[in-house]
Amino acid sequence: MSTTKYIFVTGGVSSSLGKGIIAASLAKLLQARGYRVTIQKLDPYINVDPGTLNPYEHGECYVTDDGAETDLDLGHYERFLNVSTSQANNVTTGRIYQSVIEKERRGEFLGKTVQVVPHITNEIKERIQQLGNTGDYDIIITEIGGTVGDIESLPYIESVRQLKWELGDDNALVIHLTLVPYLSAAGELKTKPTQHSVKTLMESGIKADILVCRTEHELSEDLKKKLALFCNVKQEAVIQSIDASTIYDVPNMMLEEGLDTVTLKKLSLSNATPPNLDRWNQFLQRHKNPKSEVRIGLIGKYVELQDSYKSILEAFIHAGAENEVKVHVDSIHSEHIDTNSMAHELSGLDGILVAPGFGERGIEGKVDAIRYARENNIPFLGICLGMQMAVIEYSRNVLGIPDANSTEMKPNTPHPVINLMEDQKNITNKGGTMRLGAWKCKLEAGSIVGSCYDSEVISERHRHRYEYNNVYREQLEAAGMKATGINPETGLVEIVEIPSHPWFVGVQYHPEYKSTVANPHPLFISFVKAAHEHSEKNK
Ligand code: GLN
Repeated sequence: MSTTKYIFVTGGVSSSLGKGIIAASLAKLLQARGYRVTIQKLDPYINVDPGTLNPYEHGECYVTDDGAETDLDLGHYERFLNVSTSQANNVTTGRIYQSVIEKERRGEFLGKTVQVVPHITNEIKERIQQLGNTGDYDIIITEIGGTVGDIESLPYIESVRQLKWELGDDNALVIHLTLVPYLSAAGELKTKPTQHSVKTLMESGIKADILVCRTEHELSEDLKKKLALFCNVKQEAVIQSIDASTIYDVPNMMLEEGLDTVTLKKLSLSNATPPNLDRWNQFLQRHKNPKSEVRIGLIGKYVELQDSYKSILEAFIHAGAENEVKVHVDSIHSEHIDTNSMAHELSGLDGILVAPGFGERGIEGKVDAIRYARENNIPFLGICLGMQMAVIEYSRNVLGIPDANSTEMKPNTPHPVINLMEDQKNITNKGGTMRLGAWKCKLEAGSIVGSCYDSEVISERHRHRYEYNNVYREQLEAAGMKATGINPETGLVEIVEIPSHPWFVGVQYHPEYKSTVANPHPLFISFVKAAHEHSEKNK
């Protein structure tokens, strides 16, 4: 008999309603009541993972400690829960099929015809229960990507139907997230789209237990009653999710609506312990009452889509609250920066962050922005490609090597200050083959990083193929760019700093992935503090 409880979150009417935030908010409330909770995302696309996707498709690729390249919703899960996720928390249709087809090739199906039902659905069910079987969690929340009625989602919906039947009503429930649109011409909120999407779910044999209704206006009790009656749920199970000014308000809004209590009741779990949201609310209090503000330029080439740099933007929110400072992030397209436009584009900034990225497009703008930050003593943080570009900028403009470059941008450059790692040279497959996941780094005492982390050896997440070329280290150090963080196993340089500059740090890893509400990232805290000092000085 299973003791783990399963919650499935489906979406109807429209995409982008925020299933991930609802799942994370409910998880937060259950965790705050003492339950051990994790969240899983099932993505119906055929890519094996989002690592090969352009950020314009689904936003940033989030990386876990175990090196999984995952959907950005896992970032929300970690930021809300402050608990690490792993590959098991994100499964795509591509991964499911790959695994079933590999089993077929090994002859594991003993001559049977391999079919969507039962082979694909069994694989999906196994992946859902795999997290429950670890014994690490009381409750697993599984978010089904896409919208009910999509062709791609069908095997997932069927798997949920089967699991719900197998586990029983006390052990599994379905939360359906829908939209209740407001028709301004009629001055009315409309329930029909929700009724239809609940019906679509019913056609697949699933009755929604709880409705979470996204809305721009308050749902009246009458409207909730109507939704309950026509959608076959109890009135207490009709939960309003009104537009919020910040995603971090959603857990408290769900608490007020009773989403956690109705969930616990349906799963026959105790709600005796009230949720302890002290740390969360302390963060919210600081976030909403900043004492001053700073302006930070985020230089990247995917800036048209905010989700491309989701974790960076959230890390600024956490670090801003910690400093009691409002961080305005100006997204600046690196292709719009050159030596002529630079002063105009970058003036008035208290800090400059050069973002991660791949390929040649927009990199010269990044180099120019770094030069501007370095020469004008503006606090600078370079992340991954941003760190690599900082090394290139320093080599070109301080060491006097004008053609210094990365072999990613110029494979035959005579001065590869950034170079492909030896163990990457024979790799041809693109998917899952970068240097990924958590790696250790030893920090230099007395450096900026040495003073902002509270331990000498840290662990941070990576996602890249190219590296600082140690051949140039002596020259770079002599000219004033120090290597202040080294991988203790490989000797690779992970961090560079310029001690003569007020705050100039480039990191080969991605600190943004590890920033959470409960644990804002120390490097972002220090960067925002430096930006604040810069702004005070320039008042
Ligand atoms: N393109 C660079 C590399 O592969 C940097 C990657 C990144 O910024 N995530 O090394």
